[in-house]
Amino acid sequence: MSVAQNIADIRSVLPAGVTLVAVSKFHLPQTIREAFDAGQRIFGESRVQELMVKQSLLPPDIEWHFIGTLQTNKVKNIAPFVHTIQSVDTVRLLKEIDRQAAGCHRRIRVLLEIHIAEEASKHGFAMEECRALLRDEPASAYPNVCIAGLMGMATFTDDTTQVQREFQRLHAFFEEMKNNCSPGDSFTELSMGMSGDYPIAVACGSTMVRIGTAVFGTRNY
Ligand SMILES: *Cc1c(COP(=O)(O)O)cnc(C)c1O
Repeated sequence: MSVAQNIADIRSVLPAGVTLVAVSKFHLPQTIREAFDAGQRIFGESRVQELMVKQSLLPPDIEWHFIGTLQTNKVKNIAPFVHTIQSVDTVRLLKEIDRQAAGCHRRIRVLLEIHIAEEASKHGFAMEECRALLRDEPASAYPNVCIAGLMGMATFTDDTTQVQREFQRLHAFFEEMKNNCSPGDSFTELSMGMSGDYPIAVACGSTMVRIGTAVFGTRNY
């Protein structure tokens, strides 16, 4: 199956209004180019160095989303060009993104990553921490970031009821934040769903899916 065909197949089952982020980590620039030529413009990467190299080689109208663990000392490397940082999991990181965005005279879109998996290994804010952040800090505290919503990853399991339960919890929390914490008009994105679970995520209210393997095939680490 070609990358273009995979993208067409995924698009055909995504409801209107759900954004496809093609997760291109570990794939070569020429493979990303195939997706670009098929009309895909939004790509997700999880490592700073790899993203910097690819950004320098590929067309400037790509919207790069950072989705991996981000060390605060590396924010400066991607701040000049990154479109969205989806994996903001500490206030410290949020502050550093705000600082670096200011230095580049940019406003960087971010999603707050929420820990929803029942397994312990995943990153993210606890819901209570996120609630406190959105409730207690005025948006003006971070003038150079735009908090555009939430991101979450479900447990990696075959138990679809568990995955559904985790996505439902995140959707309910997203609605609670929108309705009770006034995070602003830009707070519209709920990024959840990967190759193995995106149909469940979409049924649970996802607005953005991050799909790697089903677009590009398996990764060679
Ligand atoms: C790698 C990755 C994905 C894509 O995973 P696939 O299973 O290949 O679709 C999505 N989100 C995050 C945060 C990732 O690190």
